[in-house]
Amino acid sequence: MTASVFDIFTVGIGPSSSHTVGPMIAAHRFAHRLAQQGWLSRVRQLRVELYGSLGATGRGHGTDKAVLLGLEGQQPDSLDPETVATRLAAIRKSGQLLLLARQPVARETQAPWLHFRRDTLPRHPNGMRFHAFDGAGDAVVADYYAVGGGVVASDDELTLRPAAGATAPPFPFRSGAELVQRCRDAGLSIAQLIYENEQAWRPAAEVVDGVQRIRIVMAETIARGCRIDGELPGPLRVRRRAAALHRKLMSRSEESPRDPLSALDWVNLYAMAVTEENAAGGRVVAAPSNGAAGVVPAVLQYYLKFVPGSSEEGSFNFLLTAAAIGLIYKASTPMSGAELGCQGEVGVACSMAAGALAAVLGGTVGQVEHAAQIGMEHNLGMTCDPMGGLVQNPCIERNAMGAIKAINAARMALCGERQQVVSLDKVIRTMMQTGADMKTKYKEASRGDLTVNVVEC
Ligand code: SF4
Repeated sequence: MTASVFDIFTVGIGPSSSHTVGPMIAAHRFAHRLAQQGWLSRVRQLRVELYGSLGATGRGHGTDKAVLLGLEGQQPDSLDPETVATRLAAIRKSGQLLLLARQPVARETQAPWLHFRRDTLPRHPNGMRFHAFDGAGDAVVADYYAVGGGVVASDDELTLRPAAGATAPPFPFRSGAELVQRCRDAGLSIAQLIYENEQAWRPAAEVVDGVQRIRIVMAETIARGCRIDGELPGPLRVRRRAAALHRKLMSRSEESPRDPLSALDWVNLYAMAVTEENAAGGRVVAAPSNGAAGVVPAVLQYYLKFVPGSSEEGSFNFLLTAAAIGLIYKASTPMSGAELGCQGEVGVACSMAAGALAAVLGGTVGQVEHAAQIGMEHNLGMTCDPMGGLVQNPCIERNAMGAIKAINAARMALCGERQQVVSLDKVIRTMMQTGADMKTKYKEASRGDLTVNVVEC
């Protein structure tokens, strides 16, 4: 297992790691491929086909805009979300996009340039096919797949999944059992073990800086989400609630006697602030996906605000432990709603946050594994059905529920080191089997439960 913390936590823009971040990266890669093949100045026409779940819910997720920006050379981790509207308006007005910011290509051609298709490429539910044509009718064609968490694979890479680095880490693991055993053998906590592994690929200072950046972006997203009122983009006209809740909680803490459950309101606030920012196309950290981006920051913020003795060192350990649990899932399965339902996004995030919180509350390695197991066990079977293809309903509240569940899972695990009936590895296997049995309409297709019933009502 050679994936890194920075494969689990990736900085990008909302609303979706598979439907926004992934397509932007794929489009950027395709544009670079054209440049490498000496094709940039030859391109007269572009066609992009979005398949499966991308075809079904891509419009609501802003996939079309992400593809345009990616073709222009933008990357999700460096793009300034504030500039997006201006750039898209300029493309609309001129009818041209600038391939890699320099080669003008007519966006509109005789046929629509972007096709949202309901069929699926054979190899993955989130497929994209890019075509570039020159004046003589020759073409460059490439397929890419958004495999979850903002990771993109070409045809070759889908077979040979990309690795974080060529060097083997000192403590490789692919399962919860292996991780626990390696920690016990080496006398290390999970965070210490991950820190050692990361140093196989980058200097210690870079690891610290990278984790610190993740921490800062998470905090900034919460702060921004707590400030902004108004409606989220899209036809559902969903009102943002985090800013109003923040004002209410601030006034309550000044005037009212202490409510013993007020911490829950704050956790809800943190999770909703992040997921509203995500839905609005703002900057978020995928953890492990954009749709589930609110859970880990909400539980981390809970730790910092409500746990006596919390510290920045604790937040560092929290993020490394959460990443370790995410890496166990990543070693077994892509973490996306299109493949597993929401158990593969909010369920995984809940599991990561539960284990991380148990660790910084002083849990043993076994208790951390147990917390992560509880966090997933009670999300098994959770479907993905974003209304209108927008990452808003049920996603925003679902993140808040995932964060609360994670805190409870950590507390349950810390009640004692009991003989576990179900291990983390067994619950992950169950999640994968459940995902495989789940009907396609419950896997990010916007054709199932809430979408259908809310319209009927
Ligand atoms: S329902 Fe869950 S998996 Fe589906 S888009 Fe929303 S957060 Fe992601």
